[in-house]
Amino acid sequence: MKSLQTLKTRLIEIDDVNSAASLLRWDQTTYMPPGGAAARGRHLATLSRLAHERFVEAETGRLLDAAAQETASLPFDSDEASLVRVTRRAWDQAVKIPGSLISEVQEHTAETYQAWTVAKPRNDFASVRPLLERTLDLSRRMADCFPGYDHIADPLIDVSDYGMKAATVKALFAELRSKLVPIVRAITSRPVADDSCVRQHAPEAQQLAFGLEVIRRYGFDFERGRQDKTHHPFMTKFSLGDVRITTRVREDEITDALFSTLHECGHALYELGIDPAHEGTPLATGTSSGVHESQSRLWENLVGRSRGFWEHFYPLLQKTFPTQLANVSLDTLYRAINRVERSLIRTDADEVTYNLHVMLRFDLELDLLEGKIAVKDLARIWRERFEADFGIAVPDDTRGVLQDVHWYGGTIGGAFQGYTLGNILSAQFFATAVRANPGIPADIQRGEFGVLHGWLRENIYRHGAKFTAPELIERVTGSPLTLEPYLDYLWGKYQPLYDLREEERAAGVR
Ligand code: ZN
Repeated sequence: MKSLQTLKTRLIEIDDVNSAASLLRWDQTTYMPPGGAAARGRHLATLSRLAHERFVEAETGRLLDAAAQETASLPFDSDEASLVRVTRRAWDQAVKIPGSLISEVQEHTAETYQAWTVAKPRNDFASVRPLLERTLDLSRRMADCFPGYDHIADPLIDVSDYGMKAATVKALFAELRSKLVPIVRAITSRPVADDSCVRQHAPEAQQLAFGLEVIRRYGFDFERGRQDKTHHPFMTKFSLGDVRITTRVREDEITDALFSTLHECGHALYELGIDPAHEGTPLATGTSSGVHESQSRLWENLVGRSRGFWEHFYPLLQKTFPTQLANVSLDTLYRAINRVERSLIRTDADEVTYNLHVMLRFDLELDLLEGKIAVKDLARIWRERFEADFGIAVPDDTRGVLQDVHWYGGTIGGAFQGYTLGNILSAQFFATAVRANPGIPADIQRGEFGVLHGWLRENIYRHGAKFTAPELIERVTGSPLTLEPYLDYLWGKYQPLYDLREEERAAGVR
């Protein structure tokens, strides 16, 4: 296994460079003074270029060939064969993209992101329009590095959700949509739940302390991670012994920081659970954006917004915020944190309407890439589509086409489907875990998460990127990705909350 060892050493070295870049990025969004911005952009560009150049060298390909021979007789799921297989796939992809295109995209993305941070608060889509036109052009050129695709979005989707095709996602979303819309209609025909109990002043220190206590109980290891504040929460990893999360705090809402903390903690538990043997290699990461998101949503929603969870944690929340919550019942709180309404902002959306926000973006991405619509019409088309889907008018582009960073901080294509795939998968994985361990719901009511966490670690986390998402889903749940557990979960939760009738679920729509 001499070549495999040499390959591993090389991959770990590349990971060292990438980890340094991740640390600089973390610092950039947490503690860096504004004066560091220009140089930090350069540091990051240099490090990414060095890591990419080293990875695509012909020597990496030669070592991969030799290591493939050395591991040919090993089983598919052995660490060694998996490392060669997964690295080969990444290498084959990386060598197809010219270094010059990568630099061009990076430079352009940095400029566009800067422009977006100014344009968004000013409601000024016109100023980013030419930049976005170039983003679309660069996205197409990226896709064209992989000739032979069925749909031009496929290579871009492959980057985050390998093995998913635009056509598959489209069909899946259409089916989900036809089942979701009747539920949304039924719920929004009822009075909107009162959430004034959570919309109260809540000091930052107490919000943070409560969130930290919950994730400690979830099993977040503070010897191998920490939490800091930022504007747009995220999770990042420098090694399997240092996985960090960030959160934000709005003091006008009691549970604002909490749910972002639980979400990022779910991402972190995934990374922290990866087998240490994979450290520093391409296997030491979550396998796809959909599977990653399934873990953040599982811990945020299926656990953190469940009635059982609050049966245990509500007394502690009341103790933390006695003046605000002393006279608020558990039922009132549970309704407030699960309030469903048609709203403008994706990241604030509830579990039921959230996917409609994602579908709108996914469809527009495909239309842009296919050339069916042009960037110059995008703001208008967004408003029209939003009004058709949600029945409310978009008051400005700040809360419309400018709201999400994705198109202004990356490519157009492949950025959004992972969120909905994650929602669907969170329920499929959770249902499988409960089938294997029927005591899990009762554990949650007691504030105990060890069995659930252990099951996820054993079946999903420890493998890292060893299996592709479709392989993993099949192995873990015994079937391919399927909508039923998710739809059953939503119905099981929201039917009693909004007193929905069976015939409302069945009401067919397009
Ligand atoms: Zn997430």
